[in-house]
Amino acid sequence: MLPVIALVGRPNVGKSTLFNAMTRSRDALVADMPGVTRDRHYGVCRTGTRPFVVVDTGGLTEVEEGIDALTAQQVRFAIEEANVLVFVVDARDGLLPQDRTILAELRRSGKPIIAAVNKTDGLDLQNAMAEFAVFGIANTLPLAAAHNRGTEDLVAATERLLPPEVEEVVDPGEAGSIRVAIVGRPNAGKSTLINRLLGEDRLIVSSVAGTTRDPIRVPLERDGKRYTLIDTAGVRRKARVEEAVEKFSVIKTLQSMAAAQVVVVMVDARENLADQDLTLIGHAVDEGRALVIAVNKWDGMEAYDREQCQRALERRLQFVDWAKTVFISALHGSGLRELMRAVVHAHHAATKELSSSELTKTLELAYEGYQPPLVRGHVPKLRFAHPGGTNPPTIVIHGSRTKHIAPAYRRYLENFFRKRYKLEGTPVRISFRDGE
Ligand code: GDP
Ligand code: GDP
Repeated sequence: MLPVIALVGRPNVGKSTLFNAMTRSRDALVADMPGVTRDRHYGVCRTGTRPFVVVDTGGLTEVEEGIDALTAQQVRFAIEEANVLVFVVDARDGLLPQDRTILAELRRSGKPIIAAVNKTDGLDLQNAMAEFAVFGIANTLPLAAAHNRGTEDLVAATERLLPPEVEEVVDPGEAGSIRVAIVGRPNAGKSTLINRLLGEDRLIVSSVAGTTRDPIRVPLERDGKRYTLIDTAGVRRKARVEEAVEKFSVIKTLQSMAAAQVVVVMVDARENLADQDLTLIGHAVDEGRALVIAVNKWDGMEAYDREQCQRALERRLQFVDWAKTVFISALHGSGLRELMRAVVHAHHAATKELSSSELTKTLELAYEGYQPPLVRGHVPKLRFAHPGGTNPPTIVIHGSRTKHIAPAYRRYLENFFRKRYKLEGTPVRISFRDGE
């Protein structure tokens, strides 16, 4: 499971600036997509040697729709889940009483703490840092997040404090199965679906071993195919009967997406497609996962409402028009065969092996069909392509002036390759390399 770090500090010290600097990645697929905004609170940092989840707890206190108690709970939850706490302070304001209060709270958690002294740009470093030495935090680092200075060192220091990477012990029975994460907002119908898929008996058996912190992996066999359902909130809830309402956890959702090959995002047909639904889909895409959208509670809906719902989906899900949408009723079990078929197809597309010579030929065709716009009087050249990995299929393209290629052209190439290789159901990552 991906480790987690939480950014904590007073308002205005630069947490969201730091969050952006840590989670913005060059190849982020969602960044280029019109119609979807990035999650302001949760992201994955991939700039170091090991990816981890970053939570901006300051962002959490600003959630508009949230009641204060709920957001306070989310902050506590983030701190609880975090492996490392990054305590952000402001070198220009100096040390304020509120900083001490926050630090005391963080210390109670007993977790490793890094102090990030932000806004050191234009200041005398030694002076700026001296004031915060009283904290006695061994890892106290200067930072200028707005100028992306010091973030690399911060990421490195964070990595040193993360628990050692353990080779995930995979049940031999899991080999050859498709790893699936079923995610969605509370009440979308996740546990109803999982129940349906597994049957009650197996669910109870499989939940015995689960504790809150262990990732849960549940085997499933259906129509001759084997799957592993990963860390589903639905299963977890059943595991602790005494807990009536499981906290919806974006962190857990991100971790299961990272561990899965295919993500099923469940949305409730009777609710309007919420921003949070789009955010979850955006996370799945950023994670590079094959994607299926399951529109649940399709039973007993009026024709008019169905039409409204379909139209809204079409409009708002354009950025993932390659993902299959399946209409299901988890309650009645309808549409489940089609759902699992879509999962298999998406997995097949995501893990397809592509050959260099084929890719280069396709690149030539794409380039002949439509060339990228001029960059300062020169046409960017795209010379050859080779595969750079699967799940998601990654296509490395070598050429010149590729840094200036616009997102629209990147999308054109993505779609061209997707059509040519029938890569429906999965994001396609294009990675440009200059020179040669
Ligand atoms: P948050 O409330 O802790 O999330 O703080 P923000 O990230 O919103 O930043 C608050 C203000 O500080 C913004 O106006 C930022 O532009 C500014 N800021 C953030 N980082 C730096 C920095 O490294 N140097 C300077 N000079 N300003 C910064
Ligand atoms: P979760 O929070 O995503 O795990 O959602 P649950 O599985 O607990 O379902 C939330 C509520 O929606 C429950 O009352 C379910 O009975 C109901 N529900 C789930 N799936 C369906 C469905 O396909 N149709 C209808 N009508 N209700 C459903």
